[in-house]
Amino acid sequence: MSVVKRPSPKAKWYIPGILTGLKITIKHMLFNLASRKDMITVQYPEEKFQYSDRFKGNHILTVKKDGSLRCTACMLCATHCPAECISITAAEHDDPEVEKYPISYEIDILRCVFCGYCEEACPVDAIRMGPEHQTAAPAGDNFIYDITKLAYRAENKGGVLSKVDDQERHKRGL
Ligand code: SF4
Ligand code: SF4
Repeated sequence: MSVVKRPSPKAKWYIPGILTGLKITIKHMLFNLASRKDMITVQYPEEKFQYSDRFKGNHILTVKKDGSLRCTACMLCATHCPAECISITAAEHDDPEVEKYPISYEIDILRCVFCGYCEEACPVDAIRMGPEHQTAAPAGDNFIYDITKLAYRAENKGGVLSKVDDQERHKRGL
């Protein structure tokens, strides 16, 4: 049996709550005015917060040594994505050593929840979450990131090399 307790007459009286709130606000305001150098406010965008190396920011499609995409269009990332924001179109590759590759790979970044499941699901280190977090853009801008944006944007300086080495994999018969 659940017993619902009626609020006491004192709890219904809201002025003590307001005064407590004001006391906390004034305490912080006086502390910040007296010791400005200890304030933790970051003056963005002039100052930028340094996130940890494990921060999951904007996606990067990694490349092989020859600059081509590492992705084999296996669809594991798209299958695991909880926001269903990855769409891939696969095609046969001319090289018989490579089974498939993506002719189109798109992420709808406004639907992405930056969970990192795509990065975890990828068996060949073809997608990573990078350190960039500033996705703001003017209204009407394209928030569907394609291969050019994901793999070859200026910030990636020509492409981020995958940690997976093809020759090493072939040597080991993987
Ligand atoms: S980070 Fe999560 S939501 Fe975003 S594309 Fe990857 S799996 Fe989907
Ligand atoms: S990024 Fe990785 S998991 Fe996604 S399709 Fe390409 S190879 Fe597969």
